[in-house]
Amino acid sequence: MERINQLVRANIQKLQPYSCARDEFSEAEGILLDANENPYGSNNRYPDPYQRALKERVAELRKVAVDQIFVGNGSDEVIDLLFRVFCEPAQDKCLIFTPTYGMYEVCAAINNVEVVRLPLLENFQLDVAAAVERLSDHSIKLTFICSPNNPTGNAMKLCDMEQIIQASRAIVVVDEAYIDFSGQPSRTAWVERFPNLVVLQTMSKSAGLAAIRVGFAIANESIINWLNKVKPPYNVSTPNQSIALQTLKNYEAIQQNCSSILAEKGELHHQLNALKSVVRIYPSDANFFLVKVTEAIEVYKALLHRGIVVRNRHSVISDCLRITVGSTEENKLLIETLQQIENEKSTVY
Ligand SMILES: *Cc1c(COP(=O)(O)O)cnc(C)c1O
Repeated sequence: MERINQLVRANIQKLQPYSCARDEFSEAEGILLDANENPYGSNNRYPDPYQRALKERVAELRKVAVDQIFVGNGSDEVIDLLFRVFCEPAQDKCLIFTPTYGMYEVCAAINNVEVVRLPLLENFQLDVAAAVERLSDHSIKLTFICSPNNPTGNAMKLCDMEQIIQASRAIVVVDEAYIDFSGQPSRTAWVERFPNLVVLQTMSKSAGLAAIRVGFAIANESIINWLNKVKPPYNVSTPNQSIALQTLKNYEAIQQNCSSILAEKGELHHQLNALKSVVRIYPSDANFFLVKVTEAIEVYKALLHRGIVVRNRHSVISDCLRITVGSTEENKLLIETLQQIENEKSTVY
């Protein structure tokens, strides 16, 4: 894909990627004396560098081609690799819509890439007009849209995302870490239509596998090939590939688990709403709520003191806490503790 290749950094275009022993013999059959492995043991062989078995299952579930999938050591690895492929340090830029996931800025800083920040509108939707205007700057090589967005919780309007993807001459990333909790269908449906679109998904949230660090990029084959050239050869370990695959084999269990979380979410919303200290619960398409409370820092500290950890987002949206939907028991304890905190406060005054 010529258009994509032209966006790739010159040094990456020239890169002769590391050729690992298993590139040539993927089947891992026969007498393997090619990779200096130890002949003894059950974890003695290097992993499949291209995670073929796992990708086949993802392709089936997400209705995309195997060649349109990249597997990363968490989606965080993919974010970093995208910077390394497409952004010339100290020259190119990225565009983000704030407040959003913190890793985009951290990866930009590590790669010495300037960040253009556009605030989300008051309803936390994308400012399309401002984005289109900024995208006339062709040094913006990566645009990140997080949908559903962390920490606000809302999914972005499809027509807004579409306009931004069309307006960009470079890469647009739609981060779908929370898509399985949302009623909105995945943007993987647009991968055929938009060669510059990268959809990020992860097994850390809806699949309950944050510990194993498996995330995906789903995109045009040409983008996937560039990511493959730059990634560490054995970026996802064999046990992690295997746990991911086993979990995806029983996709119904993942869906059931998501449904229970969504049921808990409804109950939690109801309970939070009844609290005096809760000023506002923002609409959520994810497995968490952004909640405006009276004096967020105080509530945050009081919860922490009682062993309940929520995310203090006061510095990005004033008086807001981000609260993950937990188990029935955890949510019950959260509500009881918040009630206690309210009661103690009212006796002091
Ligand atoms: C949690 C989260 C991720 C997940 O990252 P992993 O590295 O796959 O665990 C990605 N993007 C957003 C917006 C998130 O909130």
